[in-house]
Amino acid sequence: MREYLLQNPMFAMAVEQFDQVADFLDLDENLRNRCKWPKRWISVTIPIRRDDGSTEVFFGHRVQHHLTRGPVKGGLRYHPSVNLGEVAALAMWMNWKCALMDLPFGGGKGGITCDPTTMSPGELERLTRRFTMEMIPFIGPKVDVMAPDMGTNEQVMAWMTDTYATHTGHMEPSIVTGKPLNLMGSCGRTRATGHGVAFLASNALHRIGGSVDGSTAVVQGFGNVGSHAAQTLCSYGIKVTGISDVGGAIWNDNGIDYFKLSKHVKKTGSVIGYSESEEIDPDTLLTQPCDILAPCALDRVITEKNAADLKCRILAEGANGPTTPEADKILSERDDITIIPDVLCNAGGVTVSYFEWVQNIQRYRWTEREVITRLETILEETQKKVDDYATRNKLTSRQAAQAIAIHTVAGVKSSRGLFP
Ligand code: NAD
Repeated sequence: MREYLLQNPMFAMAVEQFDQVADFLDLDENLRNRCKWPKRWISVTIPIRRDDGSTEVFFGHRVQHHLTRGPVKGGLRYHPSVNLGEVAALAMWMNWKCALMDLPFGGGKGGITCDPTTMSPGELERLTRRFTMEMIPFIGPKVDVMAPDMGTNEQVMAWMTDTYATHTGHMEPSIVTGKPLNLMGSCGRTRATGHGVAFLASNALHRIGGSVDGSTAVVQGFGNVGSHAAQTLCSYGIKVTGISDVGGAIWNDNGIDYFKLSKHVKKTGSVIGYSESEEIDPDTLLTQPCDILAPCALDRVITEKNAADLKCRILAEGANGPTTPEADKILSERDDITIIPDVLCNAGGVTVSYFEWVQNIQRYRWTEREVITRLETILEETQKKVDDYATRNKLTSRQAAQAIAIHTVAGVKSSRGLFP
């Protein structure tokens, strides 16, 4: 299994980042291995009835990186490229994210290899319910709490909640987060990740002496993270000049109106064809001059091929793993780009998921204002902690964020000791 995981480029990337930081921390070899490898990986087959009456078997995975600091927390992804190695890498990053944000969780991730855009709502519901049933022995509010990720949303979380409730015989909202409000979801959860990306990016802009007035942003992806990042950036007065999705990319020098574009996407399903814009090559989009570049879609989109050509001042990593280690090396030699690493930049989602879990356990509801204020406070404090640590130790911001997290996890493992 060790070799299988290491052959996956995303898991190899997560391990390479980990090893660099473990070297910096001078982590003892035994502790290093306990921190690096996932605690549990579960793969299941999910047979479902298609609408045409045929049966199709899908493959699903859940990786629980650690339960050392609390239940595993992390998203569930529906995408054709999902595989065990990718899920294991995302679980490891979730682990560092939860530790960095000081949330009482370990990291996990799940996914089903499927193309949700080609499935009917009925097929997606059967897929979700069957996967939840297969996971019942391994999940629970004190064990593993899933949330939306790429290709999943609050409807998927609602089906999971209902399946779990049907199985246990009682409604337990803390089984997943990112639920609809009427199922005890949290105010602010849907926009939390994207809002956090924009909030941290504008903070970073201020820190390097920039101002939001007249500044510009480019956003890759117009799903949950990208659309809400664009919305908050626009609300700050930042001009979002370029946006892309799986269908292509659009551009407007004067800024794209978020609300008008959202209406267009709701009607047509894509940013392409939006009247107040022109089409642009999606790869070229990433290297256009802008103050903030926010990749909010896929992993490994900033590579050794385009890193030297980036013309942004802030790289705000809304997606998980958007920058390869080769690109990181090139960017670390440039002093004109500030990177907000994924484990910090998109941590707004898991932070408000934590708030949702807390509210669910207490059967209590916070207002949206309370949620966003608490979120911004935690994000701001953590951003400062990462910046200070990086400066003090001459590390990149990614290394600093992961070093804080890995040091925390290793410390808890040491305190708990090794069973038996
Ligand atoms: P989503 O499914 O809601 O949206 C994905 C978007 O990416 C869509 O607009 C899609 O069209 C676009 N896309 C797909 N392929 C593309 C391509 N080749 N070029 C440009 N755009 C493309 O997913 P999401 O929840 O917004 O997640 C996006 C990223 O953010 C993922 O890496 C995910 O792990 C990460 N993330 C999400 C959350 C969350 O709360 N949803 C939290 C933390 C991190």
